[in-house]
Amino acid sequence: MVPIPWSQVRYWRCTGCGICCMYYNVTLKFDEWLRIVQKFGIGVTEAGLNKLYLAKKTDGSCIFLSKSNGVYYCMLQDMKPLACKLWPFKILSRPKYGRSREAEFNYKGRRLYVYVDPFCPEIRLGKPTPIMISKVIPEFIEIALGIRKQQIYTTGNFLPRIQINKNLYRLI
Ligand code: SF4
Ligand code: SF4
Repeated sequence: MVPIPWSQVRYWRCTGCGICCMYYNVTLKFDEWLRIVQKFGIGVTEAGLNKLYLAKKTDGSCIFLSKSNGVYYCMLQDMKPLACKLWPFKILSRPKYGRSREAEFNYKGRRLYVYVDPFCPEIRLGKPTPIMISKVIPEFIEIALGIRKQQIYTTGNFLPRIQINKNLYRLI
C-alpha cells in the first residue's frame, strides 16, 4: 500500500497480530543472511534477483512465524532482520513517497522523512500523540540509523515473555 506521512498517524502499537509476517517478503542484508544461514542452514532463505529473502512456508507466511495458544511469535527474535524491525515505518533521507512537508521529521537537527505503511491494522489516523513523536518515531529512526538495537516502543515485546521449547521467545 502507498505509505502515508507520519504526521497523519495518531498512534501505532504492534499487537503481534502476525499479518505482516504472513504477507510480506523479508529482504535480508548480506550479514543478516550469513548469520541466519550459519545457524539454521541455507534452506530458511531464498535468493531472488539481486536480493536475499527469508523463505516462506507453503501458506505464504514467514518460515520463522510460529503460533501458540492463538498468539503469533517470531522464532528469529534475537536475529530479527532490520526490515522486520522497521516495519511498518520507513525512514528515508528523501521524500520518496511525496507529501514531503508532512513526512519531514527533525531528529536531533537532522532532516529525515518518515512514512508508515497503512497495511498494518494497528495504524490509527489523526494528530500524532506525544509518545509517537518523542518515543516511537525516534526509536524507529535510531534503529534505521544503526545507533540502537534494543526495541522498546517499536515491537510487541513489552507484552509478557513466554517460554517455548526450552528457548525464550518474545512476541513479534
Ligand atoms: S507490525 Fe502491524 S501487522 Fe505486523 S504484527 Fe505488528 S500489528 Fe500486526
Ligand atoms: S518478524 Fe520474525 S516471523 Fe515476522 S517476518 Fe520477520 S523474521 Fe519472520
